[in-house]
Amino acid sequence: MKKIGILGASGSVGMQGLDIIRQHPEEYKLVSFAVGRSIDLAKEIIEEFSPAIVSVQNEADKRELQDYDIEVVHGEAGLIAVAGYPDNDMLLNAILGSVGLRPTLHAIEQGIDIALANKETLVVAGELVMQQAKKYGVNILPVDSEHSAIFQCLNGENPDNIEKIIITASGGSFRDKTRSELENVTLEDALNHPNWSMGQKITIDSATMMNKGLEVIEAKWLFDLPIEKIETILHQESVIHSMVEFNDTSVIAQLGTPDMRMPILYAFSYPDRLPRQGERLDLAKLGTLNFKEMDFDRFRCLKFAYEAIKIGGTMPVVMNAVNEVAVQMFLNGEISFLDIERLIEREMQQHEVIQHPDLETILKVDADYKSRHYEV
Ligand code: MG
Repeated sequence: MKKIGILGASGSVGMQGLDIIRQHPEEYKLVSFAVGRSIDLAKEIIEEFSPAIVSVQNEADKRELQDYDIEVVHGEAGLIAVAGYPDNDMLLNAILGSVGLRPTLHAIEQGIDIALANKETLVVAGELVMQQAKKYGVNILPVDSEHSAIFQCLNGENPDNIEKIIITASGGSFRDKTRSELENVTLEDALNHPNWSMGQKITIDSATMMNKGLEVIEAKWLFDLPIEKIETILHQESVIHSMVEFNDTSVIAQLGTPDMRMPILYAFSYPDRLPRQGERLDLAKLGTLNFKEMDFDRFRCLKFAYEAIKIGGTMPVVMNAVNEVAVQMFLNGEISFLDIERLIEREMQQHEVIQHPDLETILKVDADYKSRHYEV
């Protein structure tokens, strides 16, 4: 029986993680979890899974849970308490944004394996997180479909033989639009992803291609590769989740229907596999798979991400922080779709990079850029 903690239990990945636990009661038990402000959902989770500890965002919401037989904590200290809860064998970190960083590091220090869905953790502090994971002998298991694919392709391989990894990109909601057509797209259009059903932030990130940019940086740290060995390709069907090319020209790909429960289950069950109900891949029915060279002028956020990781230091922190703010401004109807990338580009150009930042510096730069008021 593997005991699981979940940060971000009320989000899309968190809920699908709960689904896996529900479907495999012999294998997994939920012992700890954190939500933001979804208190009704927290009650349902407590009633169904009887975990030992829950964290909520605001202290005022704790009262609502006082009648349950469970330890209730809150705020950042609460997230850290849940992340490092002594009974956790594995932590599914499905929280959104860089707030996931400190709890992840704390869990690593307690020797708890991490199923990582929180991209920002590696984007802002990849070097630090991977160093700590090595030091404490902790596995970082990717939950993102692309990284899970690469992880599966590399199973049993010698990493020295990797020629390159090829991350596939669906192109998001606007893949068929030109740049001039992008000037006037609406929020509603942007939230309509062709393949995956996900949260709002990641759906917008997919439309700007920043999501792929974050994934490239994430892959660099997870698989310890120079950025030159990480390629992206447009693949609109999202059937090949990513590929690895080896030095002998062989390419191994991982395929499947687009369903996040597969990579979550694999992270939970690794190195074993468990049976799963769900739609199976029918290649004959699909007929054709399409691929197209990545267009960095069309998808400029992806270009920014490559630039940010090449520059290194605090640059990816700034890119990520400004992106988080800009996406929120777009969701609020305050700026246009293309303003997102304009803001990121401008702030990256003006940032004076600090190389090899420690945790405090990373968090300070992150908080600074998130608290700024941006004008377009
Ligand atoms: Mg992904």
